[in-house]
Amino acid sequence: MENQIHFCTCKDLNCKLNPNNHNLGCDPCIKKNLKAGEIPGCFFNLVSDDLSQLNEFTLESFADFFHKNKENVQKS
Ligand code: SF4
Repeated sequence: MENQIHFCTCKDLNCKLNPNNHNLGCDPCIKKNLKAGEIPGCFFNLVSDDLSQLNEFTLESFADFFHKNKENVQKS
């Protein structure tokens, strides 16, 4: 597979939806997340590098995660 560089910060390189594993960019990931009612991992990574306490990526879990870690959010 051709090496690609993508801005995706998802660390799950084994995920078939990860942009490093195909040429479709974010589309497959976002499509899956929208269907599941979830938030893509890159948004969680924006809040904190430590996702070890997470066991779901729902809208509600993102809101909770943000409020618990909002002091870490990078502003650019
Ligand atoms: S939407 Fe998905 S594929 Fe795109 S950057 Fe975020 S985690 Fe990566």
